[in-house]
Amino acid sequence: MSIFCIGRNYVEHAKELGNEIPTSPVIFMKPTGALLPQGAEFEIPSFTQDLHFEGELVLRVSKGGKNLQGADVLSHCDAITVGIDFTARDVQNELKKKGLPWEKAKAFDGSAVLGAWQTLTPSIVENPIHFELHKNGQAVQVGDSSLMIFTLPVILESITEYFSIHPGDLIYTGTPVGVGPTAKGDHFEGFFEGTSVFTLKVKA
Ligand code: ZN
Repeated sequence: MSIFCIGRNYVEHAKELGNEIPTSPVIFMKPTGALLPQGAEFEIPSFTQDLHFEGELVLRVSKGGKNLQGADVLSHCDAITVGIDFTARDVQNELKKKGLPWEKAKAFDGSAVLGAWQTLTPSIVENPIHFELHKNGQAVQVGDSSLMIFTLPVILESITEYFSIHPGDLIYTGTPVGVGPTAKGDHFEGFFEGTSVFTLKVKA
């Protein structure tokens, strides 16, 4: 199983981190071991002093393919949910400065949190998707897929230009504005169209 991730896919989020608006999707990957087991507690790694949450829509691939193009590329996915792409921001900033890959900051064990799958229906795909990440009972990120720089079909086209996709692969589609720090004992909850799809406790 591959875990593909898109970076800088919302204008206001790119700005909040001082990044340029990309002209093609920023793609990075996480290893399978990055996936936090369902229901497990998340533990902040010892190598970071500035761990950020990034709430994101996540697609599940159901049909393989390469070089996908056209109106029905999303027929290669059957489910969608909300997850977290945890990021060691201090580590990432150091790597970015040196022009080095981001894996140490973004691909560590447990860095990929996944909610309960929702069936990807045509009506979901055709309308703006609303999602939220709450921290300790407060909405910290309110996302709307219509604000994506690269839409879900474009993301699939772009990924499959470089990589084959296979059933079970995951695609984290980028985080909206509002990323911020994570502390020991924090409690997160993800919402897809108003439905709670995960709760997550950060180890105290
Ligand atoms: Zn992200």
